[in-house]
Amino acid sequence: MSDHYQVLGVDRNASQDEIKKAYRKLAREMHPDVNPDPKIQDRFKEVTAAYEVLSDPDKRSSYDRGGDSYGGFGGGFGGFSDIMDAFFGGGGSPRGPRPRMRQGQDALIRVTIDLKEACFGTTRDIGVETAVICTKCGGDGCAAGTSPRTCDICKGRGEIQQVTRSFIGQVMTSRPCGTCQGFGTVIPSTCSECAGDGRVRARRNLDVKIPAGVETGNRIQLSGQGEVGPGGGPAGDLYVEIIVEEDDFLLREGDDLHIALSVPMTGAALGTSLSIETLDGKIDVEIKAGTQSGQIIPIRGKGMTRLRGGGRGDLFAHVAVEIPTKLSRRQEELLKEFADERGDSSDSNKVTSRKESSDTNSGFFGKFRDVFKN
Ligand SMILES: [Zn+2]
Ligand SMILES: [Zn+2]
Repeated sequence: MSDHYQVLGVDRNASQDEIKKAYRKLAREMHPDVNPDPKIQDRFKEVTAAYEVLSDPDKRSSYDRGGDSYGGFGGGFGGFSDIMDAFFGGGGSPRGPRPRMRQGQDALIRVTIDLKEACFGTTRDIGVETAVICTKCGGDGCAAGTSPRTCDICKGRGEIQQVTRSFIGQVMTSRPCGTCQGFGTVIPSTCSECAGDGRVRARRNLDVKIPAGVETGNRIQLSGQGEVGPGGGPAGDLYVEIIVEEDDFLLREGDDLHIALSVPMTGAALGTSLSIETLDGKIDVEIKAGTQSGQIIPIRGKGMTRLRGGGRGDLFAHVAVEIPTKLSRRQEELLKEFADERGDSSDSNKVTSRKESSDTNSGFFGKFRDVFKN
């Protein structure tokens, strides 16, 4: 390991200013744009590593104490390009022609499924409009029997160099070559199928497995199923975004479901059993004698499948007691008799607190009342 002070050619007591000056002088001579010789570039890296340590008072004092924890160049590459940026303005960008072959873009498609499919999972055959590799040219974009040739203007470098003046003297700067768009090569005769892009539009069909428990907004990532890149580059990913349709009867709340259950007045008073349609088909719900409107009957394990961890949420039946609106004469007689038997009269009407009445008219129950109206 060479001595940082020696590398920069400064005294051990050199001031920060002297160190900076020394580095600038060496950088001016050894900058890759000025002197691309690999041997010089190795030395330039050493110089930069030394500067990186000695220009930072903390690192410098640690180095002076013998703990050269910052001496190696490997870990300090970020520091190197930072310094290059500071001195040469964006000097850290890669040099040379850019490749014709590039990574393809990701794609997003949306798939709508119903609540039952969301609960149990499903497989969908989906058609995707995408870019696939051009089979005529194999992705290189050249007509049969031809191949890209080196650009005459930039001689394959992909960039045109210019000498500009800056505070450290003359510096070589470069800009992308306009003739080859920076590729360093030109395609003399483009493929008739893809016009030189190396890929063509195509429709592809894919079987997408949608896991149990998904909800709207969930995305499934299919690696490498996106668009093929320009020049036949590797394909991006395809994202399938799930939209779960709202069900007419079942309302989802996370992993739980809610259903409105209309119970005849007599059934609510005497107790009964009602059959309801769930995601698992028809099931019987037991209505206990004396069930009230707004009461919630939990049906365990008949909710949605949990996307993570498995198992199922619950189904909650929200009871609405049906009061008959049309009575036959006989029904009216029976009800009057019933009222007399109970001693119900207008005097004994109770006023319900606002809290109690809002419980049965808001929230989920309110929503379900609207469903019943239809
Ligand atoms: Zn082609
Ligand atoms: Zn060129």
